Amino acid sequence: MPDDWTELPMEHYSAWRAVLNGMAEAHELTRPAACPLCGTGTLHLAFGLWGPGTPRTVGGEPYLGAGRHWEWCDNCLAHDYSCNDLVPAWAGPSLIPPTVGTRDPSEVIPHLAAPGA
Ligand SMILES: [Zn+2]
Repeated sequence: MPDDWTELPMEHYSAWRAVLNGMAEAHELTRPAACPLCGTGTLHLAFGLWGPGTPRTVGGEPYLGAGRHWEWCDNCLAHDYSCNDLVPAWAGPSLIPPTVGTRDPSEVIPHLAAPGA
């Protein structure tokens, strides 16, 4: 498990957001060879609720409740994290449990590797 994660450099923020926002709009949790930093890595997106969830609809989109999300590249290990989000309903099948405590994806990835566990 890599542990040399790098917080997303600010100079790459706009390019990163453009791709990750597109993934969210397309309801994609992974997109191969899409990293704007290294050009070859697969970008990953993962969501987690803080608690049992409080479903609501905002702007016509269904959400499960308050939570957070992680974004990372599996090649250059750039990552970003937000702890003040609404979790979209489409992410429901692959939610990360509230016990995960890291900003970097190191504790997130094992949950993705064991779907349904
Ligand atoms: Zn990368």
